[in-house]
Amino acid sequence: MKKPFKTEPGRYGAQPMSRDAQERKRQGNRDTPRDAKGRDGARDGGRDGGRDGGKPARSGKTFDKKKSFDNPRRDKSFSDKPRFDKPKQTQAKPSFDKQGSAKNPGSRPERSVHKQGFTTRPTLRINLGAIKANYDRIQDRVGNAKIGASLKANAYGLGAEQVGRTLYGAGCRTFFVATAGEGKILREAIGDNASIYVLNGPAPQDLTLFFAFTLKPVINSLDQARIWTNEADRAKHAPYCALHIDTGMNRLGLSLDESETLSKNQALLGSLGPDLIMSHLACAPDANNPMNAQQLDRFRRIAARFPVMPLSLANSAGVYLGKEYHFQLVRPGISLYGGQATKKANNEDTEPVVSLMAPVLQIRNVKAGDTIGYNGAFRADSDMKIAVLGAGYADGVPVAASGLSGSKGKTSFVTLAKQRVPIIGRVSMDLTIVDITRLTKPPGLGDWAEFRGENLTVDANAIGTIDYELLVRLGDRCRRTYQKG
Ligand SMILES: *Cc1c(COP(=O)(O)O)cnc(C)c1O
Repeated sequence: MKKPFKTEPGRYGAQPMSRDAQERKRQGNRDTPRDAKGRDGARDGGRDGGRDGGKPARSGKTFDKKKSFDNPRRDKSFSDKPRFDKPKQTQAKPSFDKQGSAKNPGSRPERSVHKQGFTTRPTLRINLGAIKANYDRIQDRVGNAKIGASLKANAYGLGAEQVGRTLYGAGCRTFFVATAGEGKILREAIGDNASIYVLNGPAPQDLTLFFAFTLKPVINSLDQARIWTNEADRAKHAPYCALHIDTGMNRLGLSLDESETLSKNQALLGSLGPDLIMSHLACAPDANNPMNAQQLDRFRRIAARFPVMPLSLANSAGVYLGKEYHFQLVRPGISLYGGQATKKANNEDTEPVVSLMAPVLQIRNVKAGDTIGYNGAFRADSDMKIAVLGAGYADGVPVAASGLSGSKGKTSFVTLAKQRVPIIGRVSMDLTIVDITRLTKPPGLGDWAEFRGENLTVDANAIGTIDYELLVRLGDRCRRTYQKG
């Protein structure tokens, strides 16, 4: 079965099917058949009026009546329509037929019903209950292994303090952040009874933070080993740390040679006092990639040279590779936050956590032939009704999700009035435009459009990025609201 929202081939191209399948699965039986009604309603077209009964006029025709009725004096000098529209309307009676549209371009905003107390600011809804549920599911999957949650980059943009406290409440006692500054924030949120590892390792400027907040550095090189041991001796600390061995990622981590050197240097190893040996998988999202088994093998062999201590290899995607990848500690991030960890959507047991909601700021009728947004990147083939939404790339809506004319198969959708509507035109800094021509009932101002969440519709794969990036780019301007579950 295809998705209820039908696209016109040629205008929006094919829909991203894999995401459709996933969305159907998520929605399950809650998905009401909105198609039949949707089609019917769309037939009254976008430009007529009177559908909404007693609500304020939406159409130009009713509007004119209202104008003279309200206040004849205002009739000539002022319009009820927003004033910026006036130059287009100078020649008395607006024309609504196709012919008239040459004289009168006719694209214009509508007066719409608006929600009480509506805001122009986007909202990020973060479901902490879903994070806990995802934590529990990963715990079920990894059995006796422990979970060291990845909270780097402000818990993937969701708020390290709230996410940290939630996971601590769920039983998590090991955390990973990228920098000592992130470690300080997390420590202050969760208290002293947990290990916080700093993935980027120690650097001279950050050492005071490491000591003050009892952070454990991840040692990524012999240089970092020396920085840490020198300073640790001086500060008379007996700190723990993790040793990070590079087994093929070629990013951070001790090389195999360095690891071997270190494993033979009892003095250095003794003063480092590692309590964890870890490595990181490069290709875990692709379960068939031979790199996974190769890294697993290297990791086992090099770890065997060190005294027995807990081992850790798997990130979220690694969790799904199977038991032999779990060792004593897994380090999931994205799966906790409802993102897609693997290529195949085989992490269907994660619950969606984040909804980016943007209010409808304006509804416009656009004439055939008009262009929409920056660069005129979208041209209306026929008369359209569009909605302008109050979130743009500053809030994390990727520019790559723009809906440009002729961009076949690359359309991104948002959910508005419970239906999928395509993004059209170029996403701008604060605003995104969607095509609502086919909506049964146009939204009111202040109604919320959902960019991601249960109806996750901006598909990372389709626009050439990854869920991680979509998450961490959710902007500071969004009002963050946290739900307990
Ligand atoms: C970010 C990170 C993780 C978590 O990765 P996810 O893919 O989000 O699960 C684990 N380990 C290291 C070293 C990381 O940098």
